[in-house]
Amino acid sequence: METKPSMAKKGKPNRGIPRFSEDDASRSRARVQPEELKHTRLLVPQSLFERTLRQLADRSAGWRESAAIWIGSLDGDDAIASDVLYHHELCEDNAGPLSLELSERAKFELYRTLATKGQKIVSLIHTHPRDWVGLSAVDEDNQICSRIGFWSLVVPWYGREPWDLARIGIHARTNDGWHEFRGSEIGRRVVLV
Ligand SMILES: [Zn+2]
Repeated sequence: METKPSMAKKGKPNRGIPRFSEDDASRSRARVQPEELKHTRLLVPQSLFERTLRQLADRSAGWRESAAIWIGSLDGDDAIASDVLYHHELCEDNAGPLSLELSERAKFELYRTLATKGQKIVSLIHTHPRDWVGLSAVDEDNQICSRIGFWSLVVPWYGREPWDLARIGIHARTNDGWHEFRGSEIGRRVVLV
């Protein structure tokens, strides 16, 4: 949050009323941590993390969204990523500056492949154009997995470096929509191994 000294308001504490934006409201909701996510973690090998972000940045090329799916295994509260599949390799993703898709057919093939290999989808990761890393209504509706604790990461600036977890949107599926982890929680939840 930005804090700018406001000289103009000095000495006039009662001027105006406090403003609470939609963003503030969703932020305070996000702080109430759902019980079902109490110990949930996402473990990602550092090399996989870097490979994925490099590839997403290349695909986004500074003008369009790109996305990938981390697959791997589940162990209690831990989701462990071990490999990556890119939307643009799974299908024609029709990516534009603010959107992209994974076709129903590609999803079906993905589920079949994973079932054969005995692997799970552990996280979705996609890029956004600027610094906003919330989930849009479209993102929330674009379900590839409704499992509680399923992860969805949003990378700002079309995946451009530096890749700092603190600037990435870290969301997990709850009983009732999505929860966004913030601040010091992020380092405890997403662990690069
Ligand atoms: Zn999005």
